[in-house]
This record gives sequence, structure tokens and C-alpha cells, in this order.
Amino acid sequence: MQKALVFNLQKFSIHDGAGIRTDVFFQGCNLRCKWCANPESQPMEPLPGESAKAYTVDELVEELLKDKPFYDESGGGVTLTGGEALLHPEFVLELTQALHREGVHVAVETAACVSEDVFARVLAAVDFAYIDLKHYDDTKHREGTGVGNELILRNIAAALKGKTPVVVRIPVIPGYNDSEANFEGFAKTLTALGAKDVQLLPFHQLGESKYRRLNLDYAYDGTKQLHDGDVSAFAAALTRAGLNVQIGG
Ligand code: SF4
Repeated sequence: MQKALVFNLQKFSIHDGAGIRTDVFFQGCNLRCKWCANPESQPMEPLPGESAKAYTVDELVEELLKDKPFYDESGGGVTLTGGEALLHPEFVLELTQALHREGVHVAVETAACVSEDVFARVLAAVDFAYIDLKHYDDTKHREGTGVGNELILRNIAAALKGKTPVVVRIPVIPGYNDSEANFEGFAKTLTALGAKDVQLLPFHQLGESKYRRLNLDYAYDGTKQLHDGDVSAFAAALTRAGLNVQIGG
């Protein structure tokens, strides 16, 4: 029976989809965002001193169903995230089917940097998707995350043509994409792709202490957090282009 490594199960989450949810954080990511708040999630195996639990689908479903009364009461469910949940596609598909059999709503949060085939299969299976776009410009995307955005943009375009509701999430990162000119660029790219709903996530420092604990270099050490008001001009630029914008998760 297949297993997947999960480095955190966050119960009672209210920031990653409708209602009360459990966030499942899968180990492993194929991006290396310089501002990542979960650096421990990036390698496919936990770093020395860190832990992740290997679950079978049945074990994970059993754990997730413990909070089903809260999902039912609040219109919530389960959100699959990471790391990059889509690096475990067969597990994610089996888990989604099992949760659906139990009447649980399943959302995914992904950076969309996986093959178009994998992406399409997972997107068609889940009930809702948050898809991250860190930068509309390929060179800047590569600079901030270690990978270009060509495949990501193709996957976003395909998702927006599908039946699963999609919200594009943009992390607003100081000195990287936090200017009105950049958000004019995002607006142009997103409207051309057919996006409707966008969420802006102001940069936070919840991951700062992890870099110290793990003895890792952190490009944003000491950088000030952004607040909702700091990104309102960027939200306005997207709104002017006809997009529905929400600030914060
Ligand atoms: S995609 Fe998310 S988990 Fe992966 S490196 Fe970027 S911020 Fe971290």
C-alpha cells in the first residue's frame, strides 16, 4: 500500500478554503522560494532533526475523519498542501476519492509546477484549488523560486478552463513583486489566462525562526512583514482589470 510523508496536520484551519478545515502538509517541494515559510518542507525527506510521518491513505483518512463534525457544521473540509501536494499524485488521488466517499470536501493548494497530465488529473478530482503564482515574469520567477513559470502558466490556463473552482494566490514579497508596475503585469497576465478570482497574501515572517533553528541562510532575515493596507494599491490594480480580489487567506 502506498504511503506519503506528511510533515504537519493542521487542524481547525480557517485560512485555506471554506469553513473549518484540516490542512495536510505533504513533505517535498520542487520550488525553492527565497521567502518560503516552511523550509523544512522542501526536501523529499525530512532534514536532520525534523520529522514527518508516513501515512497510508487509510491511516490518513481515519485521522482526518476525526474532525468531520466540524467540517460538516462549518461547510469546511480538508486542504492538501505542502511542500507540494502534487508531488504525491497517486496518493492524493486515492485520498481524494476516499474522502469523497465519506462526504468530505477536498481542496488543494499547489504551485502548479508539475506535468500537465498530473495537474489535470488532480484538478479534475478535487472540489476547489488554490494555485500560486509568484511572478508573471519568467526571469523574475526563476530568480525568486529557482524555476521558470512557463509550465505553471500553462497549468493555470488549463485549470481556468476546467470545472473546478480556482483562486490564484499571489504572495506579495517585498523587493520582489511589491510594486504597482508588477501588479499591472500580474493583471495583464491573469486576465489573458482567464482568471477571475485572486487572493493576495502579504509577506509574513512566521517562518523566520525555522531558518535559525535549521541553521539555513534566509534571504528575508529581518525584512518587515506586510499588512493588508500595504497591498491595497496592488489589489486596486487587479480590481481595475476586472478581477475579484481578496486580501489575506
Ligand atoms: S512553493 Fe511553497 S512550499 Fe514550495 S518553496 Fe515555495 S513557498 Fe515553499
